[in-house]
Amino acid sequence: MKGQSYKEEKNATLKTCKRCKHAFTYYGFGYEYCPVCKQIDEDDYLKVKDYIYEHGISKIIDVVRATGVEEKVITNYLREGRLEIPEGSSYYLECERCGTNICSGRFCKSCAATLIKELSTTVAYNEVGDSPDKQVTGKMRYLNRDNK
Ligand SMILES: [Zn+2]
Ligand SMILES: [Zn+2]
Repeated sequence: MKGQSYKEEKNATLKTCKRCKHAFTYYGFGYEYCPVCKQIDEDDYLKVKDYIYEHGISKIIDVVRATGVEEKVITNYLREGRLEIPEGSSYYLECERCGTNICSGRFCKSCAATLIKELSTTVAYNEVGDSPDKQVTGKMRYLNRDNK
């Protein structure tokens, strides 16, 4: 007999797990990890998060040592905007475009604005990071229009 009906899951697609590179069924939401890696990822994320909020982040290597989570994994959390580097840290991420210090994500706010405006690129909100207040790059300029 033919015509056995088979209902496909609406948003199910086959994806490659970002972490272990195995194929898995992805339902169109959440991070692109297979169920096994998702659990590991979640555990690692909580470890790192707890550590940072307890101790602050002085050097990323300390976090790596204390949690056993790989540096590239931690950096990835920061790039994804899942973690933020607290103010006053000696380690920050760099904007991928201009190199200014940011607390999370891939771009600083002004680069994100430029990318969207001039290149019509979509920049997800979690890819845009705040710059730390402490670090002031460039000169502050005061514009005074009535300066005679
Ligand atoms: Zn996986
Ligand atoms: Zn920038």
